[in-house]
Amino acid sequence: MKKLAVTLSFFVFFFSLQLLAQPLNKKQSFTYADTLRGSITPGRSWWDVLRYDVEVTPDYNKKAIAGKTTIHYKIVQDKYSDYMQIDLQEPLRIDTIFYDKKLYINYPGKPYYNDGNVWFIPLPKAAKNSVHSVTIAYHGSPREAVHAPWDGGWIWARDERGRPWMTVACQGLGASVWYPCKDHQSDEPDNGASLTMNVPDTLIAIAGGKLKNKVLKNGLASYTWEVTNPINNYNIIPYIGKYVNFTETFNGEKGTLNCSYWVLDYNLDKAKKQFTQVPQMLKAFEYWFGPYPFYEDDYKLVDAPHLGMEHQSAIAYGNGYANGYLGKAYPSSSEWALKFDYIIVHESGHEWFANNITTKDVADMWVHEGFTNYSEVLFTEFYNNKEAGTDYLLGLRHKIQNDKPVIGIYGVNKEGSGDMYAKGANIIHTLRQVINDDEKFRTLLRGLNQNFYHKVVTTKQVEDYISQKTGKNFSKFFDQYLRTAQIPTLEIRKDKDNMEYKWSNCIKGFDMPVRLSNGAWLQPTTEWTKLKDDNLELKNLDVDKNFYIKTKTIS
Ligand SMILES: [Zn+2]
Repeated sequence: MKKLAVTLSFFVFFFSLQLLAQPLNKKQSFTYADTLRGSITPGRSWWDVLRYDVEVTPDYNKKAIAGKTTIHYKIVQDKYSDYMQIDLQEPLRIDTIFYDKKLYINYPGKPYYNDGNVWFIPLPKAAKNSVHSVTIAYHGSPREAVHAPWDGGWIWARDERGRPWMTVACQGLGASVWYPCKDHQSDEPDNGASLTMNVPDTLIAIAGGKLKNKVLKNGLASYTWEVTNPINNYNIIPYIGKYVNFTETFNGEKGTLNCSYWVLDYNLDKAKKQFTQVPQMLKAFEYWFGPYPFYEDDYKLVDAPHLGMEHQSAIAYGNGYANGYLGKAYPSSSEWALKFDYIIVHESGHEWFANNITTKDVADMWVHEGFTNYSEVLFTEFYNNKEAGTDYLLGLRHKIQNDKPVIGIYGVNKEGSGDMYAKGANIIHTLRQVINDDEKFRTLLRGLNQNFYHKVVTTKQVEDYISQKTGKNFSKFFDQYLRTAQIPTLEIRKDKDNMEYKWSNCIKGFDMPVRLSNGAWLQPTTEWTKLKDDNLELKNLDVDKNFYIKTKTIS
């Protein structure tokens, strides 16, 4: 009987947990394909990408591409899977494979094959630390973008004058939508990447990094661009259209940075005016975050037929040469949002948070979007004052849903809540309040970019770094704000003689100090604390609005 009682109560407990969890976590089921895409599978773990050389020939009229990608890699395990997992999304098909530059006929008795978007290629075994290459030729009609950049794919657009304009947006969806790669954020090519585009010679082709080669032959133009730094797969992007160029240099913390702007011919005058915001952005962000992380690869803005994307060293720009977000005060409803071009500031902010510091798993993407959303606050503060920054930040709060935790689900290519943006920014701002030392906070932001320079990280590494450098243990703070959807509530209980306060709607042990608008601090815990006599002037207690919390008064 006892056993039954335990089982029953377990069920009751489990069932109530389920009920509690329901509104926050809508039922989600993940497939084998999600695991293949989102985790470090046996076919991925044994090799480290050193470099990608991507070549693509688009056929605008047929909406098709033919491509060839060479993946240079190092073997990092002694014993490992017989197969290399390569992601290449349907309906693209592999035509031929070369192993160490030789045409590769299948490993005896083991053909290469695909399971949906994943290809398994058997390869001869080689010694740990040895370096090899696989070249994959492929072709097909890649998935076409539905609503870029969010619902992405290849974009076969026409410019305002009816001429072909092509690019790709594939964040989340994955770069394997158009070229074969290890489509996981944890493995960036250590030595960079090149992208060769073969196009009609009436069009210009741009990509990240520097132009290494241009060949004109029989009406075709072949452009090769190269980045020398590690890069996210989704940031290796072709831009093909009727582009013209203008340049300038920025004298920054690390020397002279080449800034290059590629815009459609008819946008040249507008761009020359609007892009004066670039050096302003660089100045503000170098102040807050440290040197631009890719001096060797230049800084570029490239006209795109979608809103924008943080493509490393060649940012996609499509904000209509207007301030705000397509001319509107958004995502912040504050009027300060109309003082700058959202895409120039936000997407460039990602050069530090997303491109310099990249998360291993997209579940931790708040590190990209939270800090970058906050970069808009810091930009506003830099050119105006602290109050303006705060105003911009408060204007973001209407975006917060608290629908589910900011951190997503690991191993299945699943981002967390869209709150990673506005709530992420508010979490960072709240953290800044607790640190209560703006210079220390700036040093922390610069330290993150220095310590995790060109690295892939987990949110935990970022959180631990913050705790370590500030000398304050922020683990409960991050657990509360990133791993639950609950907003801590400061409860205040008053009667005629006493006043008490505590944290509720929070995890066990949450004890964030909080500042009142009169400058005094409270140190609430999850237990009631009596307001001391000498603090009685705090009776009309009013929390500093910079903290992202709720308050509740019980009389
Ligand atoms: Zn972003």
